[in-house]
Amino acid sequence: MSKHTKRPVMAYVLIAVLLLVAIAYVARPFLKPSAPPAPPVANVPKVTAPDFLADSAFTNIKKQVEFGPRVPNTPAHKKCGEWLVKEFKRYGFSVIEQKVSAPYYKGGTMNGVNIIAQYKPEISKRICLAAHWDSRNEADKDTKDQNKAIDGADDGASGVGVLLEIARTLQQNPVDIGVDLICFDLEDNGNDDGASETWCLGSQYWSKNLHRPGYSPYYAILLDLVGAKGAKFYKEGISREVAPELVDRVWDLANNLGYSQYFIPENRGGITDDHLFVIRNARIPMIDIISLPNDGNSPFGAHHHTHSDDINIIDKNVLKAVGQTMTTLIYRTNAGVF
Ligand SMILES: [Zn+2]
Repeated sequence: MSKHTKRPVMAYVLIAVLLLVAIAYVARPFLKPSAPPAPPVANVPKVTAPDFLADSAFTNIKKQVEFGPRVPNTPAHKKCGEWLVKEFKRYGFSVIEQKVSAPYYKGGTMNGVNIIAQYKPEISKRICLAAHWDSRNEADKDTKDQNKAIDGADDGASGVGVLLEIARTLQQNPVDIGVDLICFDLEDNGNDDGASETWCLGSQYWSKNLHRPGYSPYYAILLDLVGAKGAKFYKEGISREVAPELVDRVWDLANNLGYSQYFIPENRGGITDDHLFVIRNARIPMIDIISLPNDGNSPFGAHHHTHSDDINIIDKNVLKAVGQTMTTLIYRTNAGVF
């Protein structure tokens, strides 16, 4: 376009606009009044969920670690198991202790107990949250003291610490749905170079011997490695396969609550964890919230299966993100929003 044609065209446009404005002004009384603003959507109730107390979850983790490594067949393991049962009962839960013995891949037998804590067992609509409470008997990823058991503050105790705080919350703020908090035993003493069946011995047993026949929770979520600094929760592969909607809802909820730093809406591959056997044997589409901060050799973080997995690795902000997301999910489900 050449320069000299610009001014006349602009003048015509201006005149046209002025004419339209004038016509609109004159015609105003004859035009329909504008529609009233739409009423607010009435059928989406705002659900308030109780605050998840990360300090309390942290104390639960510290207490477990103080028993010593929760290695099956040891006094520390037995004492911690008894304490967990006592705590769930204190919060008004009905607790089933499901004994399980299974061969250890290096020889001998591992003796354990799946701790199944039921909130309002009489209610048929139930949701299931799970974690493992045992810890690993060796630090095979460490450079020193590889034969010594790890504290497992993140690997084991963190998930259980969150479940215990949820139990306390439910006692303080009752809901009308059933909630099962399951602490699987014998998860973490498998063979990194062997079959997946060497892991998750407790959940393998439970998934073939359900504590109630035909158990079919509304949804089921596993928490593993949910407490360490630098945690990143991606959408795990097996979870996405069996329950993609639940995965999306959990990640959307976490993001809406402001935890996008931890819950990353990106996909990752499948992990051998308790949910695998729950899905395979019990046909319950359990999803796994598990931290996978790294891409390379140590996807679970540098502390994984080392002596760095002690109480100092725990970050209350991570506990809050996971615990508040789970708590909000429960109270939304109770309100019929989920
Ligand atoms: Zn582990």
